[in-house]
Amino acid sequence: MSDDSGIGPAASPGDAREPARPRTHKGQGPTALLVVDVQPDFLPGGRLAVAEGDRILPGIRHLMKSGTFDVQVATQDWHPPAHASFASAHPGREPFEVIQLHGHEQVLWPDHCIQGSPGAELHSALPWTRVDAVIRKGTDPTVDSYSGFRNNWGPGGRRPLTGLEGYLRERGIQRVVVCGLARDYCVRWTAEDAAAAGFDTVMVWDLTRSVDPSGDEALRSELEGAGVHIVNSDTLEIAP
Ligand SMILES: [Zn+2]
Repeated sequence: MSDDSGIGPAASPGDAREPARPRTHKGQGPTALLVVDVQPDFLPGGRLAVAEGDRILPGIRHLMKSGTFDVQVATQDWHPPAHASFASAHPGREPFEVIQLHGHEQVLWPDHCIQGSPGAELHSALPWTRVDAVIRKGTDPTVDSYSGFRNNWGPGGRRPLTGLEGYLRERGIQRVVVCGLARDYCVRWTAEDAAAAGFDTVMVWDLTRSVDPSGDEALRSELEGAGVHIVNSDTLEIAP
C-alpha cells in the first residue's frame, strides 16, 4: 500500500498524548484495521449522537494513513426506512426502550443511518480511499446488525454472517484492530465476533466512545473475558 502521509503522533484535540511506545502489537501476522460505523448520525449533531464521537476522528485518521495495515475495512450502518430497530416502527414505544425481538433483547433506537441519507454516509473527515472494503449492515428490515461479522438474531434464531470473516481469511488476515462507534454496541459486538471467529483481536479503547459510558468498566472486563485485547492508540506501533 502506498502511503503519502506524514507519520507522527495523532493530533487529537485536548488529548495530551505521549509519544508512541513500540510494543507487542506489530509483527504478529497480517493485520486488518476495522473502522466501525463512523457516520454523521453517530457523531455530535447526528440522529443517534454518541458523546465525544468526534474526538476519535484524528486518531482513526492517523491509523488509516499510517500504512501499517494489510487490509482496511469499514462498516456502515445502512437501514431501510421503518427498520425494526427504530422506536418509530413500534407504536407506543420510545427510543432506548428495550423490547423482545426474535427472542432476544433489542434496544429501540431513534431513526438513524437511513440508506442514502446524509447521516448514513461515511464521515467526510476520514480518508476512505484507504479502505479496501465496506460492509453495509442492518439492511434486513426485520433484523438489527451491530457486528460487522454477523447480524443480530433473526426470526430463525440464528445470526446470519455478513461475509466479513471470509473476506479477511481469504486475504490471509490473522489479527484485527477495531475502532469506531459505538464502543458498547457495534464496536463491542464486532470485536467479540472477531475473537470468537479466531482472529487475534485488539480494541483501541481511546478510539471508541460509548452510548452509555457508565457501563465502561464492566464492558472492559467482559471484553477481556471474551479474549479481546484492549489497548490505547499510544501503545500501538503504527509508524514503520
Ligand atoms: Zn443501526
